[in-house]
Amino acid sequence: MCGVFGIYGHPEAAKLAYLGLHALQHRGQESAGIVTSDNQQLVTHRGMGHVIDVFPQGQLDRLAGIHAIGHVRYSTAGGSGLRNAQPIAVNYSRGSVAVAHNGNLTNAEPLREDLEEKGSIFQSSADTEVIVHLIAKSAQKDIVDRLADALARVRGAYSLLCLTERTLIAARDPMGIRPLCLGRLPDGDSYVVSSEPSSFELIGAEFVRDVAPGEMVVIDERGLRSAMPFAAEPRRTCIFEYVYFARPDATLDGINVYEARKNLGRALAKEHAVDADVVIPVPDSGVPATIGYAEESKIPFEMGLVRSHYVGRTFIEPEQSIRHFGVKLKLSPIADILKGKRVVVVDDSIVRGTTSRKIVKMVRDAGAKEVHMRISSPPTQWPCYYGIDTPTRAELIGSSHSIPEINQYITSDTLGYLSLAGLKEAVISARVAPRGRTHLPVHTDDDARGPGETSADGAEASAARPLDHGSFCHACWSGEYPIRFTPAPKKLQLRLLHL
Ligand code: AMP
Repeated sequence: MCGVFGIYGHPEAAKLAYLGLHALQHRGQESAGIVTSDNQQLVTHRGMGHVIDVFPQGQLDRLAGIHAIGHVRYSTAGGSGLRNAQPIAVNYSRGSVAVAHNGNLTNAEPLREDLEEKGSIFQSSADTEVIVHLIAKSAQKDIVDRLADALARVRGAYSLLCLTERTLIAARDPMGIRPLCLGRLPDGDSYVVSSEPSSFELIGAEFVRDVAPGEMVVIDERGLRSAMPFAAEPRRTCIFEYVYFARPDATLDGINVYEARKNLGRALAKEHAVDADVVIPVPDSGVPATIGYAEESKIPFEMGLVRSHYVGRTFIEPEQSIRHFGVKLKLSPIADILKGKRVVVVDDSIVRGTTSRKIVKMVRDAGAKEVHMRISSPPTQWPCYYGIDTPTRAELIGSSHSIPEINQYITSDTLGYLSLAGLKEAVISARVAPRGRTHLPVHTDDDARGPGETSADGAEASAARPLDHGSFCHACWSGEYPIRFTPAPKKLQLRLLHL
C-alpha cells in the first residue's frame, strides 16, 4: 500500500512531485519522500507523516532539479519508521540511484540473506532495498540494463520508479499486479508517471496510457523509450484496488473505479436482497457501492453515518472512563435517519470484524429496528503478499468463522457478502473505452534490443488489451496465489548429542 510519482524534465519538478504525491495520499500516510536531480546530483528529503507536513515550502525549495521521483508509504514489508521511508537513494560505483516502489517482493528474504552473506550492508528492513543492492552489484554497464538485471532476479509485485542523475525509469512487474500509468504535461516535453491518474488531473497533465505489465519505460535526453525485458506471464492485476484501495475518480487498466464500485453494489443487491427502509454506506469507501445497492434495490439511500476527516494517527485517547471509543471517533450516526428503521449498511470488506461490530452497535443504539450488513466483496480469508496491508490468517475473521458465525459476532440481523463471480463480473462491466493517446511517441532502441524484448508497439498493445475475468489476483478471497512466497531458508536447529 504505497504510491509512487515521477516527473522528468520540468523546472519545478519537486513542486509537481509534491502535488502528485498529495493526490496519492490515500495510498499511504505513514511517510513521504522526494528525490530530485538537476542532471548532476540527487537531493533527497524524506519524513514521517502526510505529504503536507513532510514538505513545508522551504524544504521543497531545497529540492533543486528538473527530474523527481516521490513516494508515499504505508508499511507492508519491513517495519515503519524513517529508515524504511522511500525513495531509497544511494551512491555506488557508477553514480547515484534512487528507487521508489509500490508492491511487495515475494523472494526478498532469501535474496537479502544471500546479499548479506556476500557482504552487503542493509540500512533498512524494507524489501525495496534488495533491488538497490542488486542494481549496485550488477555487472551491466548501463543503468537500464542494471535495473533489468536486478528485476529479473526479484519475484512479486512492483510498480517501481528509478532515478539517476539523468534518467528516469518506470517498471511494472510482469503480472501487472499494482497500477502504474504514464502522462505528459502540456509543454509536450515533460513526462510524468504515477500509481494513479488522479495526480495527472491535479497538475494538468494528459493521461497517455497505463504502463504494460512487464514493461520498462525509460525517459532521458533521447526521449521516451520502452522495452519488455522479461518473459511474459499471465496478467494478475489486484482486484482489491477496484474494491477499496484506489481513488474512485481513477480509471486503472481501462476500468473505472467508481463505476466498478457502483456495479459491486448493484450485484450485491441482486445476490442479497432484503426488505428495508433505508440503505446507508460506511463512509467514505462504501459510498459508491451503496449508491449501486440503492439503485438496484429501490431502497432510499441516506448518509446515516457521518465521517470525521480530522482523526489523525496521533490522536490521544483518555486512559480511563471513556476509553475504547475507537470507531466513534471516526463515525457518528444521524439518529433521525435511523430511528425505527430497517437499515441496510454497506461496507467494502470485513477484515478482523471489529469495525463492523462497532458500526452495527452504533446503528442499533441510534434506534434502528433491524441492521442488515452487506459487504461488496467475499470474506477476506488470506493475507496479501503483494502489497495490501492485511493481518495474518489467524486474525482474519473470514478464515476461522463461517458467515453465520460472523453475523452472530458482529450482531447484525443478516449478513451478505458478494460472491467472487459477482465481483469479477461487476468489475469487468466497468470497462471504459480506451482513453489517452492511441499512439504513444515511444520507440525502442532496436539495436539494443535483447532476447525477449518486444517493440514499443508490443507494450502498447499489451497495455491496451482489455482485462477479462481471468486477469485478476483475488488471493485474499480465494487463496489462489499467482506467485509463491519464498521465505528465507530455515536455519538448521542442531541438537546436542549425548553419546
Ligand atoms: P476490520 O475492523 O478489521 O474488520 O476492518 C474493516 C474495515 O477496514 C472496513 O471498513 C474496510 O473498509 C477497511 N479496510 C479493508 N481493508 C483494509 C486495509 N487493507 N487497510 C485499511 N483498512 C482496510
